[in-house]
Amino acid sequence: MKKAFLVAVFTLIAAVPADAQEGVKLFRPARVFDGEQMHTEWVVVVESRHIIYAGDASGFDETGAGQIFEMENSTLLPGLIEGHSHILLHPYNETTWDDQVLKESEAERVARAVNHARNSLMAGITTMRDLGSEGAGYADVGIRDSINRGIIPGPRLLVAGKAIVATGSYGPKGFHEGVDVPLGAETADGYDDLVRVVRSQIGRNIDFVKVYADYRWGPDGTAAATFTQSELATIVEVADSSGRAVVAHASTAEAMKRAILAGVETIEHGDGATRETYKLMREHDVALCPTLAAGDAIAQYGGWKKGVDPEPARITAKRKSFTEALDAGVTICFGGDVGVYPHGDNVRELEMMVEYGMDADDALRSATSINADLFRIADKVGRISKGMLADMIAVQGDPTSDISALRNIEVVIKDGKIVRQ
Ligand SMILES: [Zn+2]
Repeated sequence: MKKAFLVAVFTLIAAVPADAQEGVKLFRPARVFDGEQMHTEWVVVVESRHIIYAGDASGFDETGAGQIFEMENSTLLPGLIEGHSHILLHPYNETTWDDQVLKESEAERVARAVNHARNSLMAGITTMRDLGSEGAGYADVGIRDSINRGIIPGPRLLVAGKAIVATGSYGPKGFHEGVDVPLGAETADGYDDLVRVVRSQIGRNIDFVKVYADYRWGPDGTAAATFTQSELATIVEVADSSGRAVVAHASTAEAMKRAILAGVETIEHGDGATRETYKLMREHDVALCPTLAAGDAIAQYGGWKKGVDPEPARITAKRKSFTEALDAGVTICFGGDVGVYPHGDNVRELEMMVEYGMDADDALRSATSINADLFRIADKVGRISKGMLADMIAVQGDPTSDISALRNIEVVIKDGKIVRQ
């Protein structure tokens, strides 16, 4: 190495000096996970917003590097892509979902979301798919645009806006019929109404459509399907013609089946899946976002003392159904329903994916290349390779041997800028 060049040895400091943002940056970590495989003896070189080299150290002439970052014990990997967040929600043990929707002003919710966006980015989430504003209108669209314009720090956001529900099938509910309450999503039914509502959401510049394919409105309070097969097909047809995907909340096998046949891109939750459901998901190339951490958090908010009390039946069933999804070879999206638990604690979902039987390197693929492929952004992010945007994180240790190493964030780089060091 030529001594004439600045050698920056990584230490945890609060502020990122302005001159650290300039020039060509060369990163020499112990390991590089490129979104698919782990490599050693690699360097990754960033110029302006992009990765200009990623490969064997011998293949790049260091004399061109303005700064060299020696990261002896670190793993460099693509910035993580959270697949299921609600930036406008905060943990339900702080305030119930009903009270957030009914009592918090939109200003308060947006103020909280600004903090949530920053916390997510600092935790290494450089892209986040946000699955519905839950009663906060199109605030998610405005937050996404504010991040893109550099007004506030945060991940690249893909947002759903209001999300779509069938009449009678969403909350807050349980009020006298004379009381008009604001819903956590937008109601629409039947062909004409669905066409109009999907188009109006598209017109507000959402990135994709979120639909609730089932809801806890069965006669005994259990989940049951909401939209008919043809209603779901209508939603997908209209969204698709604008180049947008549809994602479906679905917990029951019936709602999952309808959503898969309608052509949604991912199924969220999927607790009640059967072997047939998973087979259908494979045949139609639909991925599962299992949201393990949300169910776990809600059980704990309900009084379960994890590690002390016996595991609730719901958690045991979820563990089993996730294992079956892995066995069936269903594509697994990384998405935890963060917001139910604190924004910035996204790694909790990845830890649970591994705890429930997934290989750590598969979990890492889900959080990087697989989510990028699923969300149609693989031309920009999700892998460390030449030409990609420089969204990367460095962590102490090796997350393929211990997924919790993702908590030991050393550096977060978004769009070629070091945003945490
Ligand atoms: Zn959700």
